[in-house]
Amino acid sequence: MNRNYWQPGYETMPREELRELQLARLRDTVARVYAKVPIYRERMDKAGVRPEDIRTLDDIRRLPFTVKQDLRDTYPYGMFACDMTDVVRLHASSGTTGKQIVVGYTKRDLEVWDNLIARQLVAAGVGSDDFIHVAFGYGLFTGGFGLHGGAQLVGATVIPVSTGNTARQLTIMQDFGSTAICATPSYALYLAEEAEKAGIADKLKLRVGIFGAEPWTEEMRRQIEARLHIKAFDIYGLTEVMGPGVSYECSDQKGMHVSEDHFIIEIIDPDTGEPVPDGTPGEIVFTSLTKKAFPVIRYRTRDIGTVNREPCPCGRTFARMSKPKGRTDDMLIIRGVNVFPSQIETVLINLGYPPNYQIIVDRVNSLDTFEVKVELTDDNFDDSVAALARKERTITEAMRSLLGIGPKITLVNPRSLTRSEGKAVRVIDRRKLHD
Ligand code: ADP
Ligand code: ZN
Repeated sequence: MNRNYWQPGYETMPREELRELQLARLRDTVARVYAKVPIYRERMDKAGVRPEDIRTLDDIRRLPFTVKQDLRDTYPYGMFACDMTDVVRLHASSGTTGKQIVVGYTKRDLEVWDNLIARQLVAAGVGSDDFIHVAFGYGLFTGGFGLHGGAQLVGATVIPVSTGNTARQLTIMQDFGSTAICATPSYALYLAEEAEKAGIADKLKLRVGIFGAEPWTEEMRRQIEARLHIKAFDIYGLTEVMGPGVSYECSDQKGMHVSEDHFIIEIIDPDTGEPVPDGTPGEIVFTSLTKKAFPVIRYRTRDIGTVNREPCPCGRTFARMSKPKGRTDDMLIIRGVNVFPSQIETVLINLGYPPNYQIIVDRVNSLDTFEVKVELTDDNFDDSVAALARKERTITEAMRSLLGIGPKITLVNPRSLTRSEGKAVRVIDRRKLHD
């Protein structure tokens, strides 16, 4: 068992004490946003709640929610809670869904961020002896600089490769002796493919991977672990709340510990806004407790997950959240059936296909069409037409039994689907074009 903590005083704090700390920090945050951020003050006035009304942690429910549109409406700096002179860094969301939003950090915010990333690295068994290969994008995206700061803080040797140029990434990995890799899981798999092609996959010194920024399944984790010969850890975060650093896996790997001394997690019913019981899936909502430049109150992430507050064998007292299966806006509704890309991924890997796929949804004569392009591998490539058709039918049926709806499967040549260096693009929904 890995009992390595970065800040044991916080990570294993008795829950009673943790709740007291959360309440004090929450009251402070609410008072500050009320004083400094007009949109929070107006919303609270309208809801008839004042900062001094927050007397217990449950009183958080009296506060209005914040949504992504609020960040867009106040773009660029309308929700900053400090003077711009105190802001030392800006980041922006990669704009996967719509117009980008911008967030800021004070010096103190960056120190906190570094420590939260250091917690995740140490929980994954990474330390000062490691060579950390950061293949998350550096720039406005939070991934690169986020991981970088924490990696430096633990005293590791940081290799700030950023994204792109996969051949060069592999050369660097070999020559510099990278032992830990941070990337999106889809890019990690691409690196594995290319390493295999170059015949170096088992010659690398890599032993651990820290992956996040997009949904991925347990099946994908096993595949990455087997092909890169590493142990893979999941991390979660989002730009609006901080970037990476919000929650992280310990060696037990049954959910990601939320750094609850800095964030309050709630799970709500997305339709009613009411809390759901622990263990029930719902929309994940975060409130930041220590951020100075860009605090968020009850931010609705649109990510769907569950929370578990049972004690963890690792000794951390922080609640664990499940791997989000995707955002509410990634969920496709096809002929009335809810479909998450992660469900498609699970079926494919279980049938022995690599998780390289693309979902294409369209509308013809007011009926939804549903197609999944699936890559063949070199091993099953030169099959007869009849054998291919049989394979396609098998996949369709496996998906029909899981989803209740069977897509048309098209098997395509190995390595023919576009690879992404950041977040994978899994869905092409052409129905929007007809609206
Ligand atoms: P953008 O919003 O432009 O995509 P972000 O980097 O802020 O840029 O994206 C954060 C989102 O990425 C989260 O809300 C979540 O949907 C997804 N995400 C991040 N980490 C994980 C993870 N470990 N598992 C699943 N989804 C994740
Ligand atoms: Zn744990």
